[in-house]
Amino acid sequence: MKINIDKIQKAKKNSALKFWIGGFFILSSGSVLIDYINENKGIGEIVIGTIMFLSLITVTINGIKQGLLVRKTKNYSAIIENYKSYGEVNTNELAELTKSSEENVVKNIQEMIKRQYIYGAYIDFNNKKIVFSNKDLEKTKNINNEFEVVTCPNCGGNNNVLKGSTVECEYCGSVIKN
Ligand SMILES: [Zn+2]
Repeated sequence: MKINIDKIQKAKKNSALKFWIGGFFILSSGSVLIDYINENKGIGEIVIGTIMFLSLITVTINGIKQGLLVRKTKNYSAIIENYKSYGEVNTNELAELTKSSEENVVKNIQEMIKRQYIYGAYIDFNNKKIVFSNKDLEKTKNINNEFEVVTCPNCGGNNNVLKGSTVECEYCGSVIKN
């Protein structure tokens, strides 16, 4: 499972825009609406004013929700990072770790997938799990497999060394390259 950084950054900007612009116009459209009502304007104007007012509330709430989902996506992804090598995580575990209900966790993940904030994961509704794509799992496995036993040229001790890295021998401290 991975975060779609592009989408997340755009969503963050959009949510702030909706919140501030929506919020600003709620105030002005609200006061216009109150004026209309006080001045006994026609029903048409009052209806239009009300629709405007309600749409702006919707936009603002939408912005708040989007912002919260972005925050949750980052939070979930940090937790899920620890489960990547298992290839899956139970939704009740995620619920416990995020101090939320299992139902909410599923709803959030669904929304994250739908909005493409995350990819490489799906919800297994029957077994109540979030399953990560095999590709991701393979990658993790490959990384684990990239350790090789290297014999220290100085003391002859066997060290587990990540491919392409340089470490100190765990027995004598001399430099070992793999
Ligand atoms: Zn050594």
